[in-house]
Amino acid sequence: MARKVFIAGNWKMNKTAAETAVLCRALKEKFADICPCSVEVAVCPTFTSLSAAIAELKGTNIKVGAQNIHWADNGAFTGEISGAMLKELGVEYVIIGHSERRQYFGETDETVNKRLVAALRSGLKPIVCIGETLEEREGGKTEAVLEKQIKGAFVSIGADDFKKVVIAYEPVWAIGTGKTATPDMAQDTHAFIRKVLAGLYGAAAAEDTVIQYGGSMKPENSKELVAQKDIDGGLIGGAALKADSFYDLVKNAIG
Ligand code: PEP
Repeated sequence: MARKVFIAGNWKMNKTAAETAVLCRALKEKFADICPCSVEVAVCPTFTSLSAAIAELKGTNIKVGAQNIHWADNGAFTGEISGAMLKELGVEYVIIGHSERRQYFGETDETVNKRLVAALRSGLKPIVCIGETLEEREGGKTEAVLEKQIKGAFVSIGADDFKKVVIAYEPVWAIGTGKTATPDMAQDTHAFIRKVLAGLYGAAAAEDTVIQYGGSMKPENSKELVAQKDIDGGLIGGAALKADSFYDLVKNAIG
């Protein structure tokens, strides 16, 4: 089965609901000529802007995702949001284990796994983020770190559920820094990730898994990155915050 390119914008803690509506209106216009047969596109605004995004993007080819999910369905977890709450809004995707959550909010492989279980239970499509720090890369630990993150994330996840998961490989040193992994370097790492997935779920399932690249992807480099055999799209931060750059990035990636 050929993998479809999937490009998602992670808006992080940017855009109020009113600003979200404006950006979504611009995206709706720009993306009208992009066929969903060639690429899956999603935007992931902050929780308070999800409703505005869903309302604006209804009936378009642009999907909406959240940036986090709690592992419980409800209960005494002040400030958290459950899968059922996201699902009721009409959210389709959810980012799990972004490096900023790992770095600033105590996310671990274990909590990534719990959130992944909850997302699947709620019928959301998870985008599981993995990636090494600069220190880990320079110390020759990239593969060991990624393998540990993958194995930790997928504890107790069965083969059927695995098919619903997207992976985002995001080298931490490339996020928001303007430094991008070279296409060759990213390809080598994506191939390694697919090998680890094959060890867990078999070669066929690993072949079908969408693995996005994230880390300073922009209109100027999306074509070369997505042209790599094992790179199936991108998770985009900065370049997703403007309709023009997000559109150009997607258009170049598939063009
Ligand atoms: C991200 O935060 O997921 C990301 C890839 O950010 P940027 O594109 O800005 O590097």
